[in-house]
Amino acid sequence: MAVYKIVEIGDPILREKARPIKTITPNIHKLLKNMADTLYQAEGFGLAAPQIGISKRVIVMDVGDGLIELINPEIVWSEGEQVGNEGCLSVPGVTREVSRAMKVKAEGLDRNGKPVAIEGEGLLARCLQHEIDHLEGILFVDRSKKKAVGRV
Ligand code: ZN
Repeated sequence: MAVYKIVEIGDPILREKARPIKTITPNIHKLLKNMADTLYQAEGFGLAAPQIGISKRVIVMDVGDGLIELINPEIVWSEGEQVGNEGCLSVPGVTREVSRAMKVKAEGLDRNGKPVAIEGEGLLARCLQHEIDHLEGILFVDRSKKKAVGRV
């Protein structure tokens, strides 16, 4: 088990557009494993590689139904709206109300490089949008309407 240090808001890597994965190597498998370890250790719902200082398009998530790994993910379809509180392991101690699509479909690659699609609604949809935002250098606080109290 290897747990990475989670990068926090203010670190420029969180604002970079992450690079796509061209080839799935053993290093990517190691990255996925260590990201999952880090996610469970931190008790979060999702983690994107830039949050551990690696500017690559890799995300892991678990909203209670098991681990989801996605490489080069993209939202290809969305529907509806949900407004709810959101937080981020990279923005400790802050929650803000954020509007997201209620349902989304994301496409990407699995750990073997095989194309996969994941459809989710509610928390899973919110999580997919939040993690994929990280790959574009977008943080949830950028999307919140209200200025709330907190150190941002
Ligand atoms: Zn986050």
